[in-house]
Amino acid sequence: PKNRTLFTKRFAGKSGIGELMDDLGQAMASGDKLMLGGGNPGYIPEVATLWRDRLNEMVNSSNEIDSVLGNYDTPQGNENFINSIVSFFNRHFNFGITRENVVITNGSQCAMFNLLNILGGTGEDGIKRKVLFPLVPEYIGYADLHLEDDVFLSLKPIIEDLGFNRYKYRIDRDNLNKIKENLGALCVSRPTNPTGNVLTDDEIDFLHLFSKKRGIPLIIDNAYGAPFPQILFKDITLKWDENIVLSMSLSKIGLPSTRTGIVVANREIILALSRVNAITSLASGSLGQGITYPMLDDDRLINISKNLVKPFYQKRSNLTLELMDKYFQGIDYKVHVSEGALFLWVWFPSLPITSKELYTILKEKNVLIIPGNYFFFGLKEYWDHSDQCIRINYSGEERVVKEGIRIIGKTIKGL
Ligand code: PLP
Repeated sequence: PKNRTLFTKRFAGKSGIGELMDDLGQAMASGDKLMLGGGNPGYIPEVATLWRDRLNEMVNSSNEIDSVLGNYDTPQGNENFINSIVSFFNRHFNFGITRENVVITNGSQCAMFNLLNILGGTGEDGIKRKVLFPLVPEYIGYADLHLEDDVFLSLKPIIEDLGFNRYKYRIDRDNLNKIKENLGALCVSRPTNPTGNVLTDDEIDFLHLFSKKRGIPLIIDNAYGAPFPQILFKDITLKWDENIVLSMSLSKIGLPSTRTGIVVANREIILALSRVNAITSLASGSLGQGITYPMLDDDRLINISKNLVKPFYQKRSNLTLELMDKYFQGIDYKVHVSEGALFLWVWFPSLPITSKELYTILKEKNVLIIPGNYFFFGLKEYWDHSDQCIRINYSGEERVVKEGIRIIGKTIKGL
């Protein structure tokens, strides 16, 4: 429309990621493609069977299915589910939370939208407080989430070469300590989409202390993390206190369509999120909550995660790494250590073209990946590293992943 509102301009206009997604969608629709680009979780037959069994159980008890389908929950979420979340995290992780520390949202994307806009942006005092991403590359889905321009600030990591074509990003603590801007929150995904990095406990403790000293919360997006879906290949400590906002999701355990996000935070933040939910959604969807609350109570959810979900991804990740080491031989490449999430992040330090150009060439060869440049939002200056990386989703069919990696290797050798 003419004279677009600022909201329309911000959210209904063109965005880099929107165009990329359209392009990927069109490419997929135009025939047989090797899809290594999407964010869909893998299909795990044993897990799908468990969801089906639980749904059958609900359908066979008319009370249960009727009440899940036929009622709005409160803006905060379903009472049974919230009770189950509270006792689950107190039982297993000693969080010491009450019902007032939990809110349910329509997916964690929605939770992040509300959180970043509640915590970052211009305050009533006229001061603009930024959301700091202490390590990019970071989740592409945050990049366009704010109502205001120029709210996101991010820092480059330190790159640690681990040898054998592997490397790891580390928080640059010195640079972080130099930040002078007014901040509203710190935000990290752990495990990180797109890199598969898992910030160490020591890094989290450092960020926690930093945010406490600044009097701002630390948001930890735990969409892939412990204890569900547990797409996490190293041991970490899951901590919570009043200064941490822990965001979780049922998507990556295999229920993305139920749009269930869970936030554990202090009462003030939970109240704000519940009120926004009431205005924008009335209530969150009940199905995911209805399916899973008994599975939180009897620990089935944690066991599915540990015994089915984690091994599935660990195996796929190992296999894809082996394929890369085979087909990328002779190329200058380094893969970020795979510590969790659905992705492998590959850096080609001497790539003669940009990763965006590589994306286009690979698309012509029917291989779809995500070019890395989208994941470096919020940086104050250009960094050539951002044009040298690609993200590969390794959770698809083995045949697809294998053929895709082979073609990527051959294409780069030919450049
Ligand atoms: N956070 C991260 C790091 C993600 O990768 C995703 C989805 O890919 C989300 C949040 C949003 O997931 P959902 O809205 O399905 O919970």
